[in-house]
Parts: sequence; C-alpha cells; structure tokens
Amino acid sequence: SLFGLPDQPAHERVLLASDEATGLKTILAVHSTARGPAFGGCRFWTYGDDQAALTDALRLAQGMSLKNALADLPFGGGKAVILKPAGDFDRAALFTAFGRAVQSLNGAYITAEDVGTTTADMRVVQQNTPFVSGIPRDGAFGGDPSPKTAWGVFVSIEAGVKLHLKRESLAGVRVALQGLGAVGWHLAEFLHMAGAKLVVADVDAAKVARAQEKFGAVAVGIHEILSADVDVLAPCALGAVLNAQTVPQVRARLIAGAANNQLATVQDGDALHARGVMYLPDYLVNAGGIISVAREYRNEGEETAVMVEVTKIAERVAELLERVALSTGGTPARVADAWARSKLVRPAV
Ligand code: NAD
Repeated sequence: SLFGLPDQPAHERVLLASDEATGLKTILAVHSTARGPAFGGCRFWTYGDDQAALTDALRLAQGMSLKNALADLPFGGGKAVILKPAGDFDRAALFTAFGRAVQSLNGAYITAEDVGTTTADMRVVQQNTPFVSGIPRDGAFGGDPSPKTAWGVFVSIEAGVKLHLKRESLAGVRVALQGLGAVGWHLAEFLHMAGAKLVVADVDAAKVARAQEKFGAVAVGIHEILSADVDVLAPCALGAVLNAQTVPQVRARLIAGAANNQLATVQDGDALHARGVMYLPDYLVNAGGIISVAREYRNEGEETAVMVEVTKIAERVAELLERVALSTGGTPARVADAWARSKLVRPAV
C-alpha cells in the first residue's frame, strides 16, 4: 500500500519530491513523530524502480522509529532516500535541492548521513536547512557517526558472547564480518584489539586485502560469508541478508551487525531462533550513530559522554535477553519489536 508496509502501522507523512534542474528524485518518509521530530539518515542509492525506493524508505523510516525509541532518544523515526540519477549529475546541486526538500517539512524530519552520503553532502544540505546533523564542527564533537555505530555493535557482540555463548571475553572468538565499509572497518579494529579472529568478505577486494594485512583476517567469498564456520556473524553491508535461503546455512550462534533491516521477514527471525541462533535486532545494536548525531543536533555533551551513552546499548542487549527468557516463546526480534512499540509515545521530560 502507498500508506505503509503490510501489517505495520502506517507512516504519518511521505513526501515525494523532484527537481528537474538537478535531477533530484527523493522520498522523505516520516514514520512517527510521537517521541519528537523524525530523525534518520539519507540514503543515496541506485534502485531498480521507484517502488523499490519507496519500500526501502518506508522500511528504513519505521526501523528508525523503533531504533530511536529503544535508544530513549526524544525523536521519532524517519528516513530519506535519493534515487541516484542514471547519467552525469552535479552532486552539490543535487544535495542543495535535497536540502530544500528537507526544509519544506519544517522540522518534522531531520536528516544525516547514511549509505552513499557523506559529511561533505550534509554540509551542502545545511546551506538550505538547519534540520541536518552529522557535520564535523570546530571545537565540538560531531561528524561521521560510523565509529560510534561500530562501537555500539562491538559492545553488543561482547554482551551477546558473554550471555549467550557463555564466554568471558572475545579472545579467540571467531567473527564473520560481511562488509568492511565505514562501520565494518571500525568494528574490525575493535574486534581485532579484543583478540577476536576475523573472517571477512567485501565486494571491494582492496578492503579485504587491507583486513588480511592489518588484522590477519581470513578472506572468504561474498557468497560464503553468511555460512562461515564462526561463533558470531556481523552483517555490516546490506539489508535482508537473513532470508529463507540464507538462514538454514548460518553456522554462527550469535548475529549482531550494523546493517539495517537484516531480517527479510519476521519469520526469518523465528527460524533463526528455532535453530538456536541468537539474533540481536539491528535497530537495537546499531543505534550508536543516531545517538551521536542526535546529541550533535541538540548540542549536548562531548565525545566521552556520547561513548558512555553508546556503551549503554550493551545493557539493553542484556535486558532484551532477560525479556526473551521471561516471555512465552518470544524471539529476540518479536520481543524487541513489542518493547520498542510500547515506547512510541512522547517521553516525559
Ligand atoms: P558503507 O557503504 O561504508 O559500507 C558497506 C560495505 O559493504 C562496503 O565496503 C561495500 O563494498 C560492502 N558490500 C556491499 N555489498 C556487499 C556484499 N554483497 N557482500 C559483502 N560486502 C558488501 O556503509 P556503512 O556506513 O558501513 O553501513 C553499513 C550498514 O550499516 C548499512 O546497512 C547501513 O545502513 C548500516 N548503518 C550504518 C550506520 C552508520 O553510522 N554508518 C548506522 C546505522 C546503520
């Protein structure tokens, strides 16, 4: 439906905006403003068709509502996608026009980086709207949220390893990393420092070679990484990687990664649970980046305060596992969903 995803609450507002002069085609999806203005990044991507872009925007915006609620942020959920023009285009002009589209929502939606966009793009967006974050500032923390996202995923893996795999530390724990991009690379650094053994895959062979050299990582093909013989799987590339084809092949006992919307369907979460695989929901573990850009936007705290707040994600992982244990047959994905939805209300200040 144009009004939302099957079996899910509808989005409050969806804006389709285009600008002929720059070739901009963008979809801004505001899922919920119950907790505050909708906050979520802007994805710049080549989509098969407009419907695929709309579905992506709707799914990502809804995920942001759940993510921001579980992270106790005073923000609702939203997301923007820009459909990458097929031919040549002027990037600065495109993001200038995107800034105008964001401004037209008068603060109902606040944007930041996501896959395909950079801090430089956000600076351009800022020329036309104050409703943007993730921009480096002189003398104050801010900018690229990826290291914070990676830290949140790292502390989640640590918590999951302790609580589910019953191992005291990450020393010798085998972790498969799918995607060595902005988040994946930082995550690889944290895991390597903690003594984990890395198995990696990326479509970019240069990144794989660097990980082999820097971390002594074992490289496998992009079609082998999800079924690698490891303890932990960390999807840090694309969405919907846990699906009917891949779930039966997963050998890891714990999954925690940065990629948004890892489960193709909630039933794939059920299937993982039935196989004894602990899936830590993406929007719980990858909230470090939004915590960072939200603090930057509110001009609150410093680097250390942000890191302390991101580290609290580990406590939420522990709470989720307790909630799952106390539920009757609940899976982490379903229990986290219900928990997050119960928080889709304006927080008391
Ligand atoms: P990125 O584009 O920097 O990195 C993605 C990496 O995955 C790239 O190195 C790419 O080559 C690789 N890749 C693409 N297809 C692949 C495949 N089939 N197999 C293996 N590798 C493949 O993106 P990022 O910022 O690191 O984000 C990664 C994921 O985490 C995305 O899903 C993003 O939405 C999510 N996420 C990112 C942040 C953040 O702070 N950047 C925050 C929350 C969620």
